[in-house]
Amino acid sequence: MVCSHILGFPRMGAQRELKSALETYWKSASEPDDTNPDLEKLVEMGKQLRAAHWALQKKAGQDWVTVGDFAYYDHVLNHIQLLGCEPARFGFKKDTPELERYFAMARGSLTVESGQAMSMTKWFDTNYHYIVPEFFPETCFALSSERLFDEVKEAKALGYPVKAVLLGPVSFLYLGREKADGFDRLSLLPKLLPVYRQILSRLHAEGVEWIQIDEPVLGLDIEDKWLAAFRDVYQELSREPVKLLLTTYFSSLAGHIDTVCSLPVAGLHVDAIRGAEDLKEIATKWPADRILSVGVIDGRNIWKADLDKALAVLRSPGLAGRQNLWVAPSCSLLHVPFSLDAETKMDLRLKQCLAFAVEKLEEIHALKDALVKGDAAVADALESSRRTVELRKGDWVHNAQVAKRVNALGEGIDRRKSPFDVRQALQRKRFRLPAFPTTTIGSFPQTQKIRSARAAFKRGAMSEADYRQSMQDEIAYCIEQQEKLGLDVFVHGEPERNDMVEYFSEFLEGMAMTVNGWVQSYGSRCVKPPVIYGDVSRPKAMTVEWTKFAQSLTDKPVKAMLTGPITILQWSFVRDDEKRSVVADQIALAIRDEVADLEKAGIGIIQIDEPGLREGLPLRRRNWREYLDWACRAFRIASSGVEDDTQIHTHMCYAEFNDIMPDIASLDADVITLEASRGDMTLLKGFKDFSYPNEIGPGVYDIHSPRVPSVAEMVGLLKQAARVIPADRLWVNPDCGLKTRQWKETYEALDNMVKSARLMRETV
Ligand code: GLN
Ligand code: ZN
Repeated sequence: MVCSHILGFPRMGAQRELKSALETYWKSASEPDDTNPDLEKLVEMGKQLRAAHWALQKKAGQDWVTVGDFAYYDHVLNHIQLLGCEPARFGFKKDTPELERYFAMARGSLTVESGQAMSMTKWFDTNYHYIVPEFFPETCFALSSERLFDEVKEAKALGYPVKAVLLGPVSFLYLGREKADGFDRLSLLPKLLPVYRQILSRLHAEGVEWIQIDEPVLGLDIEDKWLAAFRDVYQELSREPVKLLLTTYFSSLAGHIDTVCSLPVAGLHVDAIRGAEDLKEIATKWPADRILSVGVIDGRNIWKADLDKALAVLRSPGLAGRQNLWVAPSCSLLHVPFSLDAETKMDLRLKQCLAFAVEKLEEIHALKDALVKGDAAVADALESSRRTVELRKGDWVHNAQVAKRVNALGEGIDRRKSPFDVRQALQRKRFRLPAFPTTTIGSFPQTQKIRSARAAFKRGAMSEADYRQSMQDEIAYCIEQQEKLGLDVFVHGEPERNDMVEYFSEFLEGMAMTVNGWVQSYGSRCVKPPVIYGDVSRPKAMTVEWTKFAQSLTDKPVKAMLTGPITILQWSFVRDDEKRSVVADQIALAIRDEVADLEKAGIGIIQIDEPGLREGLPLRRRNWREYLDWACRAFRIASSGVEDDTQIHTHMCYAEFNDIMPDIASLDADVITLEASRGDMTLLKGFKDFSYPNEIGPGVYDIHSPRVPSVAEMVGLLKQAARVIPADRLWVNPDCGLKTRQWKETYEALDNMVKSARLMRETV
């Protein structure tokens, strides 16, 4: 029988109701009061959202509703409680309520000294962050939460057939971290498995037939011991009387297909978008009498599907006529916005081309109906899909001039005129900076006043002239502060920018913003990525006026701020009808033109931020080379069109570069600034081992906290840095931009930073 289902749904609600409920609760929870009515409201909101999301699944003809994908903060954190491995360092008392412990782990607890929030990291290559489980040799597991079973009961009470979802035991261990030396978290498996069995058995007792067990690590380059663990684990779990749908996503299963197909599970889900290349092999190797769930609707992007193409996949040899085929999105819909309904301001052509979570449910529905009842039964959906395919061929998407320019990109387009040492000498002559030059990463505090002015202008409540005046006032203030501090290279402070990608997307042709396209990033935090729908070009200068104005106020060099092509690409929803490398080239050319205009306006130092470069690395190492080649080239296209004495900076955050050092060096930026203070400069080792040739500014203070670091502390870090990097190539700067900070702490910290640089100068 052909069925359809989804792997998970966005949690926040159509209007981010969960965000509001969470933030209201957190605010009131921090005030001393025994009864917290906002907790009840939060719990009630959770219940309402689950019910609403199940109703949507049901309405769209899904054969089950998916239960267990909801989380107040993060689904991995749900599992930490379900499996009873909350870190002992929080010292929770027996009677501390579950949700209180939950938020203490997520956000930190003030009641104990060791109550720092658990760390978060990116969920595979998405922009979603999960809470990292902490493991010790003595970690024990025990079924410790009723939440999942309660939610199953909730769905059953509403009359829905339920498929429960769990993160599988191998992935759960793999995604955690060892917090003690000399032990391997995989060794915890024998202690963990009995709890999983218990959970399966409980779900069975609740009347759940199917359990979706997510093992996304099967799509990574995992070591053999992890791969081998799968056999034993699933042998063991198969002894429970439930049906397991082993679920993989985000990647090809290459190299692991034989293992996967040998596991004794009743069903398998594969990502037919990212793992399209595997389908043929899986169709032959996966037994025909078992369920195969094929993820043909892209859960990572927002484009309306080409239903003919999806049907062709579902009807390809090996899949056609399968008795046990399920139609699904490639992965959880957590990574796309809720629904298009709220997009009232969007260009209608673009809107016709998009499908958010709710619309994707309908696409799945249509595919199932086409397979079951024939294409005629879904003629309207097919017709609309075909219209969209045609629409996207139009000239509102394609710009012949842009295509021509990209095609004509020649060999030397990504090279500076002269090698670094020649440029360095010319730049030294031009700027005459002291040793250990001081600078910042770009943004200064975004005060309420700045935000209100921007919002008022956007609403139409402030005239263009008034807006310009208020931004110029902010820039002038920023320059004045930098003069007082005695910094060497200034910035304008970025008051006019809401976000470093959104700002540029508003200028660039081929990019658009949504009004409500929010996607969960972590906890209650959501991001609204721009949409790259067409060939990208730059109709007019984007930053020149502000930078020029700032430069007119001072004799010190003002460093211009741009966002790099890969970061713009990485933090947007990107069109799926063009290669990413081509889109990167298009954005690179737009930035290159901006760089040229800045240079023409007399700006001598230009920073191109690329915090997204490292995070764009593909999940599988075999795909790294290709990505790094085009990504680094795009950066160079953007940055290399300048004279030798124009200084190019780049900036990257929280990055581990050891494994891609040659590529970082290949960017050939004159100066690279990095987030380094929290790692005690250990990051620099890679630069030293590689003999990184250009100048480096390792961040000397953490901008994530309001704490003002002392001069001694920063001198300490600088001395450490000077031990690995020749002093005449070191810059002094904070870890990242200062926009989330207050002015008071910013001023004090920068003051200490400038003093540290002066002390360092005396040592050389
Ligand atoms: N120039 C940006 C800023 O200072 C850089 C932000 C970032 O690296 N994430 O805000
Ligand atoms: Zn940064």
